[in-house]
Amino acid sequence: MINRFLNSACVVRAWESLLNSVFPRRCVGCGLSREQGGDYLCGMCRDDIFVIDDPLCETCGRPADIDYDYPAEGFECGWCRKGEYRFDRARSLGLYDSVLKELIHFYKYRNQPGAIAEIEPFLRDYFEAHRTEYEGFAVAYVPLHIRRLKDRGFDQAFVLAHTIANILDAPLLVKPLHRIRETLPQARRNREERLKNVKGAFAVVNPETVSQKNILLVDDVFTTGSTVNEVTRVLKKAKAGRVEVFTLARA
Ligand SMILES: [Zn+2]
Ligand SMILES: [Zn+2]
Repeated sequence: MINRFLNSACVVRAWESLLNSVFPRRCVGCGLSREQGGDYLCGMCRDDIFVIDDPLCETCGRPADIDYDYPAEGFECGWCRKGEYRFDRARSLGLYDSVLKELIHFYKYRNQPGAIAEIEPFLRDYFEAHRTEYEGFAVAYVPLHIRRLKDRGFDQAFVLAHTIANILDAPLLVKPLHRIRETLPQARRNREERLKNVKGAFAVVNPETVSQKNILLVDDVFTTGSTVNEVTRVLKKAKAGRVEVFTLARA
């Protein structure tokens, strides 16, 4: 009786639909049926993730325009020369385009924190190669507002920070900051609007947890840098040491 029930087409379909919503059969990157690769990406899309490499701005990590005549070392972009940023350095894993963009959207807006597992090997390669640069750093992250956290069910920057802290074997600061007011989504806003939107939006929960510490601040996407810049401001006000930013992607 139970067997007959389990074999019924209805249950099979429900099970397939559940599995498909957790591990989609179609690749998140290209939308095609996924025959090889991981749980979210096909092998080809995974190979297509563009990892940022030199030449880039020493300070903010902006990829240098290869047509532009820049010195090979010590290149600083226009924004950094204007003293735009408060953080000491920023780096990103890859460009926010095609595959990485789709994957970030999928895990951020479709409640799929597991999608981060597709990127973990890339993060591991990056932090293994740069391990010495982050020695003595504690890992923190840009928090979501409590209301958005409730809607989404997880904080994507926390998941990312947790993964990075594990790779680096570094301490993870749990809830180092909170959003003291809700901000509008930064997407589709220009630089000025983004600055205004995040101004005064964050506070350090307990200054003792960040005071005199070098902090690796993690977020998902770096667009104008307004958010991480504002978070850096409050971290430095709470007497943090160096603040270095790491984002999954750079728009
Ligand atoms: Zn694909
Ligand atoms: Zn720069």
